[in-house]
Amino acid sequence: MGTIGVLDLQGDVVEHLDHLDRLGIAGIRVKEPADFTHLAGLIIPGGESTCLSRLLNIFGIREVILQEFQRGLKLWGTCAGAILLAGKVIGGSSCLGLIDIEVQKNAFGSQLDSFTSEVTIPRVARQPIPLTFIRSPKIIRVGRDVDVLLRQRGYIAAAESPGVLVTVFHPELTPSLAFHRHFALKCGLNPSVDEELSMIDPTWDTRSWTRYTRL
Ligand code: GLN
Repeated sequence: MGTIGVLDLQGDVVEHLDHLDRLGIAGIRVKEPADFTHLAGLIIPGGESTCLSRLLNIFGIREVILQEFQRGLKLWGTCAGAILLAGKVIGGSSCLGLIDIEVQKNAFGSQLDSFTSEVTIPRVARQPIPLTFIRSPKIIRVGRDVDVLLRQRGYIAAAESPGVLVTVFHPELTPSLAFHRHFALKCGLNPSVDEELSMIDPTWDTRSWTRYTRL
């Protein structure tokens, strides 16, 4: 039960696996129902939510996620992954509906309106965390059993329930391991990197999130 899976149908998979690796957490690619054995958590990466939701149905993974969630599997959706987990999608339909949030897709505009920022999220880490938003949704409402982790300028960017974490930004595209550490702890695992070190990666090229020097 000590493994975290990364849904490997479409989207940014390798970046999540690399972050897990640097935390000392075993990560595996999840492509088919058999890959769910021994998973403590599953990351649904960013990508394109309509495409991902079709692939989830085509490969029979949607039902497996719903069943495994009932058995205690923890889930984290980043960006498109958060859209898939949402109970309500404005102007669209919900795919997994496992967290009571309402999201608005592409709420910041086009790909060219993508941006980075830095904030302190006390529930996740003491030091500021870099954030990367890429054609992100906004969470515009959360239900009563959902805790807001980050609210800014009229929208919610990160939230969690006991079983599900959602971030509309991409921690896997920053040097920080803070959110991966937070999710590993939520899954009952023991990351080998402490909180201070989870904020820094000296090998990361901070000039661009598109350059990936470690692989
Ligand atoms: N705009 C995408 C969608 O609606 C999400 C983008 C992302 O995951 N970076 O699915």
